[in-house]
Amino acid sequence: MSMDAGGFTTRLDWVAAALSVPDEPAWRLEEQGYQAALEHDVESQFAISNGFLGVRASLEQTMVASRPRTFIAGFFDTLPSDPPIPALVHGPDWLRFDLLVAGERLALERGETLAHGRTLDLRRGVLIGDWRQRDSAGRIVHLRTLRFVSLAQRSLAVQIVQIEVEQPAPITLEAWFEPPAAGLFLEQANPTLQIWRAAHEPKQLAIASSMALWLGDQRIRPASGDGGRQVWSWRATPDQPAIFARIVTFARSDVEDDVRATAYAALRRARRNGLRRLLAEHTNAWAERWQASDIVVGGDEAAQRALHFALYHLIGAANPDDSSTSIGARALTGDAYLGHVFWDTEIFLLPYYTYTWPAAARALLLYRWRTLPAARAKAARLGYRGALYAWESTDTGEDATPAYVHGPDGQRIVIRCGIEEQHISADVAYAIWQYYQATDDVPFLLAAGAEIILETARFWSSRAMLEADGQYHIRGVIGPDEYHEGVDDNAYTNGMARWNVERGLEVAVLLQARWPQRWAALREQLSITPAELALWRDVAARLETGLDPASGLLEEFAGFFQLEQIDLAAYTPRTAAMDVLLGRERIQQSQVIKQADVIMLLALLWERYPTVVRAANFRYYEPRCGQGSSLSPAVHAFIAARLGDMTLAVRYFHQAAAIDLADTMGNAAAGVHIATLGGLWQAAAFGFGGISFMQGGIRCDPQLPATWQVLRFPLQWRGRQIRISIHQAPLTLSMTLERGRPLAVEVGDLRHRLGGKDTWICRWSEPERCWKEVF
Ligand code: BGC
Ligand code: BGC
Repeated sequence: MSMDAGGFTTRLDWVAAALSVPDEPAWRLEEQGYQAALEHDVESQFAISNGFLGVRASLEQTMVASRPRTFIAGFFDTLPSDPPIPALVHGPDWLRFDLLVAGERLALERGETLAHGRTLDLRRGVLIGDWRQRDSAGRIVHLRTLRFVSLAQRSLAVQIVQIEVEQPAPITLEAWFEPPAAGLFLEQANPTLQIWRAAHEPKQLAIASSMALWLGDQRIRPASGDGGRQVWSWRATPDQPAIFARIVTFARSDVEDDVRATAYAALRRARRNGLRRLLAEHTNAWAERWQASDIVVGGDEAAQRALHFALYHLIGAANPDDSSTSIGARALTGDAYLGHVFWDTEIFLLPYYTYTWPAAARALLLYRWRTLPAARAKAARLGYRGALYAWESTDTGEDATPAYVHGPDGQRIVIRCGIEEQHISADVAYAIWQYYQATDDVPFLLAAGAEIILETARFWSSRAMLEADGQYHIRGVIGPDEYHEGVDDNAYTNGMARWNVERGLEVAVLLQARWPQRWAALREQLSITPAELALWRDVAARLETGLDPASGLLEEFAGFFQLEQIDLAAYTPRTAAMDVLLGRERIQQSQVIKQADVIMLLALLWERYPTVVRAANFRYYEPRCGQGSSLSPAVHAFIAARLGDMTLAVRYFHQAAAIDLADTMGNAAAGVHIATLGGLWQAAAFGFGGISFMQGGIRCDPQLPATWQVLRFPLQWRGRQIRISIHQAPLTLSMTLERGRPLAVEVGDLRHRLGGKDTWICRWSEPERCWKEVF
């Protein structure tokens, strides 16, 4: 392995620069000391990920409280649990090493800890550790570590350790790969390659690795080594720090024919490049993503940090090169939900990717295309036509929702979401249409998107039943509000289903007009007849909406208005979720809702509802929401901002941000809530930034919180790169077209054509009125 120290006088200089942490607090997370009780949260928050590999921030010398995990996207195995469920496999821990000082293992719990800290450099996507320990014989050792999983070459993981002593001492370093507690068997191992096999499915994981240790310019040979374990011994002196480096590459057999060759080839490439270049490529790849999506907030440090944290995890969660996987509910940062993919991806994450990283959005949507056969099979199994996506999806797309889980007392809790939470099909269609509208990606529409929209439209048309009242109804579902099961005409489900059926019709017309050959082929392949299209039209026209014209309220589901009203304010402050406090039976009979449901519908189909309907529903449902899902507060922030209720918007924004950063729901230990983080982006861009899209361009109706002096962010739209900058006092907006053809931009009732490299500035001198000046 070459260290390639070019540009730096010595290898040590280069390592010292690599180990430096950012000065600005908004670009780093920091944890000083080791607290067992917080350790799992830190491991989640500080996880590093590149969309293929995800590594929790556990220490290299794991402690009793450690939960080390390396996840490999898409590498699932069905565990013989009760019930058997596919779960993301835990890979071996590739970071493990021990240091022996004069034969004694250096450990946090022995001797005296002089310093112990971890810093996550959000900008570069590297985790840095710093540990100074006095051992029981009084010798002081200073270890500094760095790890990253490359954003430039996703199969690659790198670890660098600098070891310094303050007194001369014989040192031994042992480095190895720790097998996971379960799920993988080692089939073969030599010093540079391990082949692991999943415990219950015929899948392999190859891990190639190379380790090296230098003293100054001298590379030290390992004294011994077997399989993946290698041992070095040397006599350390204070003037000569040692550097240990390990590079590791991963390949999974379900996407590669020859995992051994793939892992080796990646390793060879990495070794040829050398550490310095590997780190440079990685940090350049991060810089590119920040350039394309950083949000700058002036005046609210906590909001700025929360957004950097959110964007950091969003960038690390996706992989534009792999359409065989999607993003699980906790991305690749923890065990909760076993890596399963929910509507979280399409509704909470996709907007961020679609508008800042379309290649990643495309790969995520192609995953739904790959799993379309499984969605068709699920619909058929339940007696419907078209495609009903898995509520919880893994590599195959088969429904992976557990039929039951075990409650705290071991009692069985039946989970009906796998059968009843069907809105997922419309959510997928929604994300596809949004992506197509935002990118004009015709090849994607023709090859994959249109088919999904047609098949999901077909599902809803077979699912909705025409009844004696002359309307179509969708009975027996669970909406986003999972506190109420088996409900009829859930407003969200019906609203989205109707929208989905309408898009099915629109796609049919569009294809017929613009790509008649493709339409002919699809119509033939899917056997779409004029009679079926007529049925879709009828369903779209007569599907129950739940709208009460007198009040403007959408009833969350049939009978909701008659349920028991519970004053949630009377339960504050509370430490448990409302379903725990009230019990499952009572909550079903109450108006307490788990998460944005009607409000979610407003968020997605905003244009569809008149202002009075938006406001009336928000005012009605917001106080009834128990915020029992982490997905909910950010949506409330977004909609409150749109409605101009800034106090509420800011409160919900910070509530959403605290879910991971302050572990306010008590479950950050099991992984970051990636949907919440996507929701924060939406609250910032769509809520405070007030961005929406029209036929030929972009609208902006900013609602800046009073303390935010500035809000700046970039967006991509139909091949254009646009930068938006909003300043306070007087409220001023500027939009710059950095790349791409001219487009229309709208602010209030002003319209402008924004041309190449052009900046349009509007100043609002009287906030309640109209835009006054245009430059
Ligand atoms: C929420 C769902 C969400 C799931 C995974 C549940 O608690 O109610 O809407 O999809 O968590 O994040
Ligand atoms: C979630 C459901 C999910 C179930 C089983 C619940 O906590 O709210 O959406 O299907 O867990 O994984």
